[in-house]
Amino acid sequence: MEVSLRFSPELWIFLAPRDRRPEVLLPYDGTSSLGHLIESAGVPLTEIGEPAAGCRPVDPSYRPGPGEVVRVPPVPRPQAAPGGRFVLDVHLGTLARRLRLVGLDTAYRNDMDDDALIEQANAEGRVLLTQDRGILRRRSLRRGAYVRGARPDDQLLDVLDRFRPSLAPWTRCTACNGPLAPVGKAEVEDTLEPGTRRGYDEFARCLGCGHVYWHGAHGGSLAAVVARAVSAVA
Ligand SMILES: [Zn+2]
Repeated sequence: MEVSLRFSPELWIFLAPRDRRPEVLLPYDGTSSLGHLIESAGVPLTEIGEPAAGCRPVDPSYRPGPGEVVRVPPVPRPQAAPGGRFVLDVHLGTLARRLRLVGLDTAYRNDMDDDALIEQANAEGRVLLTQDRGILRRRSLRRGAYVRGARPDDQLLDVLDRFRPSLAPWTRCTACNGPLAPVGKAEVEDTLEPGTRRGYDEFARCLGCGHVYWHGAHGGSLAAVVARAVSAVA
């Protein structure tokens, strides 16, 4: 006998190519939990909504019986992300800078191993964003999410679509995640190139690393990233 898992098409990206069809049949062994079966098919539990056996909602600890059919929907969007705080794995550096650009509290370092990422996510109440399914399967991780998309633009839109966080563009340092505070021109004049000194009058300084920003310093391409992000959550 077998157990039939019916994954919604949104979850097919996690399945082996041969399984990308309406029904995945797994051998019934009498002991495996639904969560184990879903993960063995390749789908992280962070990415699913509430499964249903027949028309009865069940959770991942449920043990499907022989011949049983279980529907598995994707995680509902928008998903709550209290505080809108994130930590990103080492491969998502460009996405980290973009999340900071739109004002989201985003922890990122390029030298964090999986244990350190999980520890920081749990300790600081952050959602761990990753494209590594292995880390999403770790039992100790409280809140994680798989980031869809290969390009940073697509990844940013995926995160915004999933969590619908409130944005505050240009308020956070893209280098270190520190908050920016307005600063008088006289205070920063010495550190500016002559062209900047002549062309700009409004400045902000990072309270974390001291980096000075001025409006326009990011160039038109980042302004376009911000405009797309703002309209994505509008
Ligand atoms: Zn900074």
